[in-house]
Amino acid sequence: MTVNERVQRLERLLEVARNLSTELDYDTFLQSIISVASELTSSEVASILEYDEAGNQLRFAAVPWFHRSAIQGVRVPLDESIAGWVYRHAKPLVIQDVKGDERYYSEVDNAAEFQTHSILAVPLLIKGQPVGVLEAVNKTNRAHYTGEDVTILETLASQSALVMHNAALQERAERICDEIARLDQMKNDFISIASHELRTPLGLILGHSTFLREVIGEQHRDQLDTIIRNAARLKEIIENLSNMDNFESGAARIRRRRVSIPRLVEEVIVSFQNDAYRSQISLHTDVGQDNLLVEGDAGKIAIALSNLVKNAVTFTREGGHVFIAAEPIPGYVKVSVIDDGIGIPSEDLPHIFERFYQVESHLTRRHGGMGLGLSVAKAMIEMHGGRIWAESAEGKGSRFIFLLPLDSAQADAAQRVFDA
Ligand code: ADP
Repeated sequence: MTVNERVQRLERLLEVARNLSTELDYDTFLQSIISVASELTSSEVASILEYDEAGNQLRFAAVPWFHRSAIQGVRVPLDESIAGWVYRHAKPLVIQDVKGDERYYSEVDNAAEFQTHSILAVPLLIKGQPVGVLEAVNKTNRAHYTGEDVTILETLASQSALVMHNAALQERAERICDEIARLDQMKNDFISIASHELRTPLGLILGHSTFLREVIGEQHRDQLDTIIRNAARLKEIIENLSNMDNFESGAARIRRRRVSIPRLVEEVIVSFQNDAYRSQISLHTDVGQDNLLVEGDAGKIAIALSNLVKNAVTFTREGGHVFIAAEPIPGYVKVSVIDDGIGIPSEDLPHIFERFYQVESHLTRRHGGMGLGLSVAKAMIEMHGGRIWAESAEGKGSRFIFLLPLDSAQADAAQRVFDA
């Protein structure tokens, strides 16, 4: 081969390599590789085999279209085949006359009604590990395969290996995503069924024990209080689960009414006065003079606020302070729940609104809860077109803030005052 011819071949290889890298479709890419491989090595045909883990053998990933129906289903064993040898040894192999070679596996020729004379096979390698084989078959005019043919085939093989590897990774990623989606669905179904099925018997337990507490004498009142307290706690957990489930499934709807935030704050904290008193925590509010109104679902806003206040009381030491403030800011009502409790480590702060996230491991933690309170609060606020976030310093305390869009009439009035 003249120098000029060699330069032309290399230029062609370069051109092919450039074009191939823009080829997106996987099968088209492999087909292009084999047609370029036979063209540049002056071979009759070329094919790509890939390792099939399930059968521990090789299968054809790309063959010339005229052989496709005949050999697509043929499997090539790793033992007693030329491709198998190349795969196992991760080395190129040139055989000038396959008939005299005991590794020649005639099944493929038989199926394709084809006659192989000479063969050049190179491994497809990813980080030195074989993943398949690229073969060129029957050099024209019974010529011998050269070192340059080997180099060309190896160049094409390295491109193919990379693309095959990426395709395999992508397939794996898709499978994992599907599996995650399936597990997530199972978990959601479980939460949905469990919270629904637990609600009725729990309601009966609470109803009957409350009734018994009224009619039974002093003697058993403490026991009944314990039953009622714990059943109420269970009810709270189930409510959180089912709120989250409704939100996730899109079943949650907000019934918009005018809601006075100062009134809602006052109503919510009443239910925490006893807990705060028991823990010697001072619970204060500053909800201003203005009657701040939002158009929203009072029940859902109350759930969000209750979850924040409950956490503030739970994670504040004896003698600490919890403070709830509401104030108008342009277009919004800003509600802050501030405590001087244990605070949240900075590495946990970005995750606390995730479902089931808890700072302390559930095995070592001293407080109850399922790591759902904040994700429920977030869902409730975001359903109203609001925003919620937290600021905290470990050992010093936390500040949870949410914004809710102001009632539209009030927002317009505020804007007029601002404009004037
Ligand atoms: P849980 O109901 O289990 O408390 P949440 O979703 O309400 O779950 O809160 C998640 C985690 O965030 C809690 O386990 C707690 O570690 C942390 N956290 C929430 N609020 C506070 C707070 N005010 N002070 C300190 N840590 C808090």
